[in-house]
Amino acid sequence: MKFGETFTEYLHGEQERFLNKCSHVEYKRLKKVLKSCRVCRALENQSSSEHAEGEESNELSEFCRCNSCPLCDQMFFAELTREATEIAGCFSSRVRRLLHLHVSSGVQRCMWRLRHCFADDQQVMIQEGRMLLDYVTMNAIAISKILKKYDKIHGSVSGRDFKTKLRAKRIELLQSPWLIELGAFYLNFSDSDSGEPAEFFRKFSCDLNDTQPAMTMSISDSVKYEYSLTCAICLDTVFNPYALSCGHLFCKGCACSASSVLLFQGLKAAPRSAKCPVCRAVGVYNDAVQMTELDLLLRNRCNDYWKERLRAERAEMVKQSKEYWESQAILTMGL
Ligand SMILES: [Zn+2]
Ligand SMILES: [Zn+2]
Ligand SMILES: [Zn+2]
Repeated sequence: MKFGETFTEYLHGEQERFLNKCSHVEYKRLKKVLKSCRVCRALENQSSSEHAEGEESNELSEFCRCNSCPLCDQMFFAELTREATEIAGCFSSRVRRLLHLHVSSGVQRCMWRLRHCFADDQQVMIQEGRMLLDYVTMNAIAISKILKKYDKIHGSVSGRDFKTKLRAKRIELLQSPWLIELGAFYLNFSDSDSGEPAEFFRKFSCDLNDTQPAMTMSISDSVKYEYSLTCAICLDTVFNPYALSCGHLFCKGCACSASSVLLFQGLKAAPRSAKCPVCRAVGVYNDAVQMTELDLLLRNRCNDYWKERLRAERAEMVKQSKEYWESQAILTMGL
């Protein structure tokens, strides 16, 4: 089956009610834009070759190589940017809500409400997680397919470049830290043996004992994504992990020291000029995502390591607070 059909089937399938609340890639509409562009270009090509064979057709091939298409760029990329932004926003807010229910102890009332509406809230959560995973992967594939089509029709690399732009704008769907959180959520569930058929969990796997700890997500048999769980600062497995807005993961303690804030102040206090140690992007600390599910996964799977790091973090926090208050006292006394 062609992807266009698979995607249409997905949009109108069993998840339709879920999808009604979220935007998706207008795959068909974008394909139409490309199709009409192809027709226009074919006509142009024809008329120019009728005019004079040598020079003008050269001109057209130059036009192809200049990497922009006046016929469809404005519509195509603007639309795709808007859709990707909306999808990324919808995905992150819904995963956030789902995981909040799972991890936080302060939401027992929500759990209670859920339990009263549904027979089994574990099942409901897994179901919601699966829909979110389908949602983000189907749309990511749609974006990647339509961009490839764009490049094929225009003989350009603009589609490929656009992907890089999505990453820079932090709306590349498969790079979302919320996807790693969703993966960790699944793995935590499968560890807790909820009696769920294993096929749900097979999409994610995680190897923490390797020298390069990583989480792998397989979208299909051939497409796999790997997310490194090594902190680029301490070069160890991340502990109490935070994802900066650029998507890079660090231990909270490491990110705090990289942005020159104290542990108890937290990353929200980081100056806007502080840079990500990996990609050098600025302004990435204030909206950092605390990876609670991933932390839980590490705690369950490498408990000794996790405890050791917790002890070290607490000791560091006490040391920093002591130094901080001592310096404040000295300031107050005017010494
Ligand atoms: Zn075009
Ligand atoms: Zn670290
Ligand atoms: Zn970064």
